[in-house]
Amino acid sequence: MDVKLDPSRDDLPLMANTSHILVKHYVLDLDVDFESQIIEGTIVLFFESGNRFKKRSSSTEVACLSESNEACKFRMPEPCQIPVTNTKTFSSKIGYNDFVICGKGEKDTSGKDGNHDNQEQASGISSSKYCCDTGNHGSEEFLLVLDCCDISVLKVEEVDVAAVPGIEKFTRSPKLRNQIVHELVALPADRWREQLDYYALCSQAPGCGELLFDTDTWSLQIRKTGAQTATDFPHAIRIRYRTKPQGRSVTWTSDQSGRPCVYTVGSPINNRALFPCQEPPVAMSTWQATVRAAASLVVLMSGENSAEPTQLREGYSSWHYYVTMPMPASTFTIAVGSWTEMKPEICSSNDLATERSFSPSEADFRYVGVCGHMEYPCRFQNASATTQKIIPHRVFAPACLKRVCQETLLPLIPPCLSAAHSVLGTHPFSRLDILIVPANFSSLGMASPHIVFLSQSTLTGMSQLCGTRLCHEIAHAWFGLAIGARDWTEEWLSEGFATHLEDVFWAKAQQLAPHEAREQQKLRACLRWHRLQDEVQNSPEEMQVLRPNKEKTGHVSDSGSSVIRHGLNPEKVFMQVHYLKGYFLLQFLAKTLGEDTYFSFLRKFVHTFHGQLILSQDFLQMLLENIPEEKRLELSVGNIFRDWLESSGIPQPLQRERQALAECGLAQQVSAEVAKWVRVNRRPRKRKRKDREEVFEKLLPDQLVLLLEHLLEQKTVTPRTLQSLERTYHLSEQDAEVRHRWCELIVKHKYTKAYRDVEKFLQEDQAMGIYLYGELMLSEDPRQQHLARRKDHSENLFHASACSPGGPRLAWTQDIKGRAMGLLKPAVSGRLRLVG
Ligand SMILES: [Zn+2]
Repeated sequence: MDVKLDPSRDDLPLMANTSHILVKHYVLDLDVDFESQIIEGTIVLFFESGNRFKKRSSSTEVACLSESNEACKFRMPEPCQIPVTNTKTFSSKIGYNDFVICGKGEKDTSGKDGNHDNQEQASGISSSKYCCDTGNHGSEEFLLVLDCCDISVLKVEEVDVAAVPGIEKFTRSPKLRNQIVHELVALPADRWREQLDYYALCSQAPGCGELLFDTDTWSLQIRKTGAQTATDFPHAIRIRYRTKPQGRSVTWTSDQSGRPCVYTVGSPINNRALFPCQEPPVAMSTWQATVRAAASLVVLMSGENSAEPTQLREGYSSWHYYVTMPMPASTFTIAVGSWTEMKPEICSSNDLATERSFSPSEADFRYVGVCGHMEYPCRFQNASATTQKIIPHRVFAPACLKRVCQETLLPLIPPCLSAAHSVLGTHPFSRLDILIVPANFSSLGMASPHIVFLSQSTLTGMSQLCGTRLCHEIAHAWFGLAIGARDWTEEWLSEGFATHLEDVFWAKAQQLAPHEAREQQKLRACLRWHRLQDEVQNSPEEMQVLRPNKEKTGHVSDSGSSVIRHGLNPEKVFMQVHYLKGYFLLQFLAKTLGEDTYFSFLRKFVHTFHGQLILSQDFLQMLLENIPEEKRLELSVGNIFRDWLESSGIPQPLQRERQALAECGLAQQVSAEVAKWVRVNRRPRKRKRKDREEVFEKLLPDQLVLLLEHLLEQKTVTPRTLQSLERTYHLSEQDAEVRHRWCELIVKHKYTKAYRDVEKFLQEDQAMGIYLYGELMLSEDPRQQHLARRKDHSENLFHASACSPGGPRLAWTQDIKGRAMGLLKPAVSGRLRLVG
């Protein structure tokens, strides 16, 4: 596969040459400065070359995982097959002014380190782009390519790991740096603590020679003079860099108490503007990070330890986190702000029980080889971890949200965690932090290892929205994190599963009787059916396909690079097709096989594939192999691909389910209520006292959503009816899903009396307000446009937006985050209503 990039397109490149060399561990050492909105420091990368990372049980081979040193030779640039005429273009004769380009014309401050020796003797790398640089093609030097953007790289150097005191303890060749790294990386799982300590010590070892580097839009390229293969290239390198305030990986903003904070936003580019990394998911690595910030701030991160701050010099403290389970760098998350840990008002014994921690201890992990993944201290091998229903958890939020966190969120966490354990078994992660993110977070939730971001929009109304969203994010611990998609276009593997499981977990968490659970799940299926129909009618067909790469899924170029089609397409952030069609496929499979058969298979699947990356066929093949033939009916991997994963529109088998959906009792109840409202709406303004008053049934939040969606289809709804609707259901006090539909009704019928509800929604429910905002901006009504433009929220919401009425509908989505690309993309739960 050629890596041809056209910046005007919306494809996302993954540049790192992971087939040649793989990052095994990152050590980050960072200072967070709110004044300048810059994160600055170093990252040390520990590499492995060769084929040790090849262990995988998946069905599709990644192309060219080179085994011999010869094959590991650098072979960029792939797109330009231009014969090499002069492989020595970059001789030492090139003056050093021509190289070491520091982050797009930014000042190189590495001079203050007083170490320019290497630059003077080195042969330079041209500042021209490798891709079109015939001279570099065939260069005899190995080139390390890391994914990054919007980062100022100041210095890159080899780390002298041989200088670490005591390093000879576990290496046979204390003088050979790469050998030391090799043996450090290869330490068995039960020596994880020692391994982490040595990684930390090595990361602080002195440099032993600067490396040459260059940056372009999407990558950082590093080479060492004379290092011709990945094996010769330094296996421990340190990069000094700083982020840029406008970088798209982190958002600098204010929390609900007005205090500054910064957090990873889950943008399609993941963490590339936070640290240089190998972005392709095959580069599964561990990490540890030390982060310094003002002592008044809390640093939360993807780490398995519940870090406590260490006081440093006046006014500063430092936080240290680590993980021992290798995961893609894209899953790393950090949040720094003035957050308060929320605890229940009265500490019940129940909560004390959750304090028991099962952090891995050396003795716990002896059963190497039980799992299919590469070695790490895995909870599935730890008897006490496997039976832990509720993992230790903390909740952080701005102090002003204390009451609502205590009332709504805190009581939900133990039952939701416990429900997940009862369905899937072992929690893959040892602990969980939940952070209520600032109002401008673009979705209702986002899951990362050990940390879940929740929008404040989940906290209003009854517990339904908060509970289901929490269940969704908890489900991602298994599907999306512990089991990731190898090909990011197969996003349904995380979102479809999490959407299907959220209903199952939530029914258990509420302790619903089986028939009640079935009814509620049917109602949710009805809502999703409406949403899917809406979406397939209003989106490009090619974006409705769940396995777009078909038989080429998971394929990468010889170097390991690839391009994610539509990865940067702003419209993609709004699409829910992966959630919805994925959900319906899994619901269909569970129904066809029987729930008991399906969920016992799912536990087996998790046991087999946790800690690994998968493709659709890994799941489907194992599923069909594991069910009795008489239950398989006409199902085959081929026809599931054809009917569900490789077609656009509504899948054929789902069309046939339509009747069953219509028979949902809770939905029929809604239809009856809708009929009443339509009657009410038709009545003349002045009516006689003796007219029969309608008596309305009490409705569940999901029923209210359905009711309002039906009413949105009415051409006219009078102000009197709208007023009566609000009074009957207290709509402005309902959860954000309900209020969103309510606001849509207000906007559609220009019900000026309730414009304050719209304004409030745009301010407080920015995760969902985007659709509403779009409708307001595109309306011809000056008052509505004014509502959208109100400086206090619109600027905060869509800063630097290019929105203009009648302009490109999605121009303003560029600021809307949302972790696309499969692993962690959160739901945008507002209904997709294409306007204009
Ligand atoms: Zn395991």
